[in-house]
Amino acid sequence: MITALPLIISHFVRAKWRWRWLRGERLRGFQERRARQIVQYANRHAPFYHEHWRGHDLTSWRALPTVDKRLMMANFDTFNTRGLSGAQAMQIALEAEQRRDFTPTLKGFTIGLSSGTSGHRGLFVAGPAEQAAWAGTILARTLHKLTRRYRVAFFLRSNSNLYESAGGALIQFRYFDLMLPLDQAVAQLNQYRPQIVIGPPSLLEMLAGERERGSLHITPERLISVAEVLEPQVRERLTTIFGVPLHQVYQCTEGLIAISCAAGALHVQEDAVALDYEPLEGQRVTPIVTDLWRTTQPIIRYRLNDVLQLDAQPCACGSAWQVIRAIEGRSDDVCYFESAAGERRAFFPDTIRRMILLSSPAIQEYQAVQERPGQLRIALDLPTDTPFEPVADSVRRSVAATIAQYDCRPADVTIAPGVPTTAPGIKRRRVRRIDR
Ligand SMILES: [Zn+2]
Repeated sequence: MITALPLIISHFVRAKWRWRWLRGERLRGFQERRARQIVQYANRHAPFYHEHWRGHDLTSWRALPTVDKRLMMANFDTFNTRGLSGAQAMQIALEAEQRRDFTPTLKGFTIGLSSGTSGHRGLFVAGPAEQAAWAGTILARTLHKLTRRYRVAFFLRSNSNLYESAGGALIQFRYFDLMLPLDQAVAQLNQYRPQIVIGPPSLLEMLAGERERGSLHITPERLISVAEVLEPQVRERLTTIFGVPLHQVYQCTEGLIAISCAAGALHVQEDAVALDYEPLEGQRVTPIVTDLWRTTQPIIRYRLNDVLQLDAQPCACGSAWQVIRAIEGRSDDVCYFESAAGERRAFFPDTIRRMILLSSPAIQEYQAVQERPGQLRIALDLPTDTPFEPVADSVRRSVAATIAQYDCRPADVTIAPGVPTTAPGIKRRRVRRIDR
C-alpha cells in the first residue's frame, strides 16, 4: 500500500512528538479535545450512539453510559458510522479466514475479526486513514531507535491488510500465518533472519523450543508478545532462551491500548485511547476504553473484558503515561470459591496461577479450569523423570492453603497429568472458567 506511505510517515513523526511532549495538563487537554470531537462525530453519524446517549450531556463524556462487545455486535449496523452491514462484514471476514486471503474489503473498508472463542468474536472495520494512523503510531512506539531498516517477522492468526500496510521504507514486514506448520515457519525464519519477532507467547514458546533443539538459528534483537496474556514464567523462559528483551503490544478489536517502552514497561497509549478504570478487588481494575481516533467504528466508553494491575510508580524511561504492571486475563476467567459465610469470593487468574506454580518448581506447564464455583480441575506437565503424585500433593496443599487464607471452604480439586495442547490459531488461556 505505497500510497499510504506518506500518511504513515506523517503519523509516525507526530506519534514520536506526542510521546515526548504530551504530559500533565497538555495531555489532559489533548484527550479532552479529541474525545469531545469523537463523541460529537459518533452522535451525528452512528445511530446506535445517538440513541444510547439520549438525555445525556455529551460534554461530560466520561459520564456517558458504557458499551461492551455484546452491545457492539448486536447493533453493528448502526454502531458504525458508514452504514456497513454486520452480516456482510462477518461473511467477508469468515471467507477471508477460510481462504487465508485477507485482501477483500467492504466498500473500501478493511474488515477484521478478533480471535475470541466462537460466539464471542468481535468485528472491526477501519478506513485507509485510520490504518495509516495505526501503522504510524505502532511503528513509532515499537521502534524505539531507528538506526537502520528492520526486518520484522509478524505471526498472526489471520492477516488482515491492516498489518501489511506497515511495510515500506522504514521497515520490512513479513507476515507468517499462525497456521503454518512449525518446521516450515522455522525454515522460513532461518532464511529471513528477522531482528524483531512478533507473535503470541504460545508461538514464541514453540520457537524457543526449536531454538533449544538447535533447529532455529535466528538472533533477533527483540521479541514482541501480542494477543495473549504473557505470564511471568513464560516471559522468563523466553528472555532466557533468546537472551533478548521481550516487549508487549496490548491491543484488541477495541483499539491500541498499551505498548512497552525502551525500558520495558507497558505504557497505556494515552494519545490513542483515554482509559477510565473500574476498581475490582485488590489493586485490580477493568478498563473502560475511549478510542481517540477511530471514526468508522467509534469505540467510546467501551468496557473491556480484561483484568489489569496498574503501577503507581513512574517509569525509569521518564514518561508519565500510565504503566500497566500486569494484564491478568479476562474477567470471564475469574474463578469463584465460597466463603465460610456462604458468599462467593473472586479468585483472579493471577492468584490461581501463583498458587499452582509456586507450589513446585517441577511444573513445566499447567491449565486450570473451573466448571462451577468451588471446583477446580488442574492439569500439569512435568519432566518425564519426575514422579507425578508428590507434585500433585504439593499443588493440592498449596490450593487448599490459599483458599483457606481467603476464608473459603475447601474446594473440590482434581489434578491430572497432561495439559491439553492448544490448537494452532486458538488463544491459549491457562486459567479458564466455563460455567456460563
Ligand atoms: Zn517507560
